[in-house]
Amino acid sequence: MTRPALLSLDDALPQLLAQARALTGVQLVSTFDADGRVLARDVVAALQVPPQDNSSMDGYALRAADCAQAGAVLRVTQRIPAGTHGTQLNAGEAARIFTGAPIPPGADAVVMQEDCDALESEQVQVTKAVPAGQWIRRSGEDVTRGATVLSQGTRLTPAELGLAASIGLAQLQVSARPRVALFSTGDELVMPGDVAPEAMPAGAIYNSNRFFLRAMLQRLGCEVTDLGIVPDKRDATIAALRDAALHHDLILTSGGVSVGEEDHIKPAVESLGELNLWQLAIKPGKPFAYGKVNREAQADACHFMGLPGNPVSSFVTFLLLVRPFVLALQGVTKTDITRTDMTAHFDWPRADKRREFLRVKRNAQGGLDLFPNQSSGVLTSAVWGDGVVDNPAGQTISKGDTVRFISFAEWLA
Ligand code: AMP
Ligand code: MG
Repeated sequence: MTRPALLSLDDALPQLLAQARALTGVQLVSTFDADGRVLARDVVAALQVPPQDNSSMDGYALRAADCAQAGAVLRVTQRIPAGTHGTQLNAGEAARIFTGAPIPPGADAVVMQEDCDALESEQVQVTKAVPAGQWIRRSGEDVTRGATVLSQGTRLTPAELGLAASIGLAQLQVSARPRVALFSTGDELVMPGDVAPEAMPAGAIYNSNRFFLRAMLQRLGCEVTDLGIVPDKRDATIAALRDAALHHDLILTSGGVSVGEEDHIKPAVESLGELNLWQLAIKPGKPFAYGKVNREAQADACHFMGLPGNPVSSFVTFLLLVRPFVLALQGVTKTDITRTDMTAHFDWPRADKRREFLRVKRNAQGGLDLFPNQSSGVLTSAVWGDGVVDNPAGQTISKGDTVRFISFAEWLA
């Protein structure tokens, strides 16, 4: 058997994303519940924020022309706390005003209370000259009426929820959550809780992939159905896949995608649709499968993705390939991830044919330290690390070199 040529990540990702047509469902959700969801429509402001010119200080609103020199004395004729509004202010007058209160008509500046001395009989002395416009927040300086403040395809974070609320939106139209069925494969796998550590039979390992895959899918806005470990029988596997395809947008499995491996997933998916086994030029994570499981009497098929079984391979291929895919299903416009130039504080003397994703941690000196064991089975590397170095194929690294860093904080957000 000839080995298939390795496919570069830069070639694989666009091929994969070309399959990820955005789901059509739209949901109206409370703005409170929209964190992490994806906007299905542009959000347009129906008012100005702030609605009126208002004071950014506790102090006095006045006419700057009255205070061209320090020491001016003005009559205090009105008091404007936040939530109220004042009346016409005339020459020689000042209005006691508080942060957020609207500037009364006729006034064109605010002086902070620290620059004033309150005098007897409702008068105030302003101890500094006041320029026009001082301490005024202008109407619309945050948002102008009619402006698109948030665009369709934006993944919402707390700041966006606040901005939507500031223009009066109690609900937002968001994309439907992708429904993902999660399977594990492998006869060696045991679920934590089913067998105690001291009772584990020889050759058995706990199913760890299922835990991080489910958590990552949920963080990305997916509704996950955990279908457990696929039964080790051809017919049962086909039945499980066919059933899952009816009610899900994506079936995700881990394990059993290595070349030449005996397992039931591959023939089962092939019998229900199509399956492409890719050999990606990345490390960890070479084997990867993408395919489709047809749905009876429906034109569209359910997506299928198979990740490698080694935990770190599964973790990294999920972030590189599944993450952008499920974001694209929700119509997210920006699915790529930031790579930051940083300094390696380690040596990596052996270049690899494949592009590597090395688990590293930022240190107090502003550089990156390397986890000593980069094996694809060592999940501790992903816990110890706070990101990866995206190292091009054929590249060695010497202490002091600039490398491209991807932060888990952003990647897993
Ligand atoms: P495979 O991709 O099925 O050849 O598996 C590669 C390695 O990953 C083997 O050592 C498996 O035991 C291990 N593995 C597969 N699935 C899981 C899983 N869900 N959790 C932890 N390790 C796994
Ligand atoms: Mg296996």
